[in-house]
Amino acid sequence: MSDNPLTSAQTLPFQTVLIANRGEIAVRIERACRELGLKTVMICSEADRHAEYGKRSDQFLCIGPATAGKSYLNQDAIILAARLTGAGAVHPGYGFLSEKASFSDAVAKAGLAFIGPPASAIATMGDKISAKRAMIAAGVPCVPGPDTALPDDALAVERTATEIGYPVIVKAAGGGGGRGMRVVTEPGSLHEAIALTREEARQAFGSADLYMEKFLEHPRHIEIQVICDNHGNGVWLGHRDCSMQRRHQKVVEEAPAPGISPQFIEPVGRACVEACKQIGYRGVGTFEFLYEDGAFYFIEMNTRLQVEHPVTEMTSGIDIVREQIMVAQGTPLPMDQSQVACTGHSIECRINAEDPKTFMPSAGAVAEVVLPKGQGVRVDTHIHDGYRVSPYYDSLIAKLIVHAPTRSAAIATMREALADMRIEGIETNLPFLRELLQDEGFARGETDIHYLEKWIKHRGAA
Ligand code: ADP
Repeated sequence: MSDNPLTSAQTLPFQTVLIANRGEIAVRIERACRELGLKTVMICSEADRHAEYGKRSDQFLCIGPATAGKSYLNQDAIILAARLTGAGAVHPGYGFLSEKASFSDAVAKAGLAFIGPPASAIATMGDKISAKRAMIAAGVPCVPGPDTALPDDALAVERTATEIGYPVIVKAAGGGGGRGMRVVTEPGSLHEAIALTREEARQAFGSADLYMEKFLEHPRHIEIQVICDNHGNGVWLGHRDCSMQRRHQKVVEEAPAPGISPQFIEPVGRACVEACKQIGYRGVGTFEFLYEDGAFYFIEMNTRLQVEHPVTEMTSGIDIVREQIMVAQGTPLPMDQSQVACTGHSIECRINAEDPKTFMPSAGAVAEVVLPKGQGVRVDTHIHDGYRVSPYYDSLIAKLIVHAPTRSAAIATMREALADMRIEGIETNLPFLRELLQDEGFARGETDIHYLEKWIKHRGAA
């Protein structure tokens, strides 16, 4: 028997949570559930069926083959698993089905609580044009450019580009993962860029809608974490800097973003919470901004838990996953904005199973894992001695997080923790991270979203 009858509202209390994910985030969610006295069901693919971490949960169920499309992305199989095991809620984690409005909807229709926002909010924010429109309406600063799809009329498109001013970026409304966008530096290449992006968008995202905005040349990536309950309350939990990216993938994240005063970010944080109220948002979410020359520009909202949530947990002292589960149960947020106080500085390094020079994924058996310890050191991971890293999924195998009173102290703690951490038997990016954390430019907080790629190039040439 499910603990939610079919007629129940989406936020009825539940006793058992099905975790529709794998790896470190499945372990993270399982721990939060256990602390709340909830039972857990983990699902897995055939590739993960022998994973030790599955034994932590009350039930561990293989739902399909290694190919994610047939297991971790198989909505029907996941909902059936929830019914068979008596789960009353589904936590999607990040990636996989976490930002699929159809999944949130299917879970709700099955009479289960979706630990995430309602389908309508995911759909609004999943379409970048409607997201931009909603943000403008809520007073959130956006990148200059219209909040409408590009028309077919060639002259009108040229006029829009001229009004914005070159360089511009043409983006797919349904784009994601850094795909479906093209920078246009001069009028001569505008139409070709639009045609190519439109075709790519049609094939990859099922919608040919495009929009155009100003291309910012040296921005930082700054984001704001929010959490909202089902009773009209919402708070923002400070900001993070995730500018250290390679191929649009974040590598090092930190909170707070260096050099941004609390007074300066506060109106932006307030506008994010206001936007959540306007779109009927519930759960955790992240507003992503580009920040250039002292101004913030919204680019997208992630309607889910993020990989880098721990740096905000460390500075705010708030267990984001615990709160996320509780608001899905209908519990009012236990704090208001005046009770949110972020202290110190936190940094996260993503530990990937990959070659530290070529970044090629590295699968296989982990011979030995030695985790760093000490004041202000946290490791979120699912691996252990003998764990087999599967070639089928993301190469993230651990997150090393530190917290210290100041940024320079956090960098010192991270350097030592990286030096102490060992993962033998497979290649990892630990040597790369050790070198990166010695970089003086990073230490001075002089990064933008191109910094890491340039650093890698320079390092290769050195
Ligand atoms: P996705 O959903 O694919 O992650 P985003 O809209 O978040 O797409 O953009 C991904 C990345 O593309 C950003 O982190 C940034 O590096 C770059 N980008 C997007 N829009 C702009 C812009 N207007 N100016 C400069 N860079 C941009």
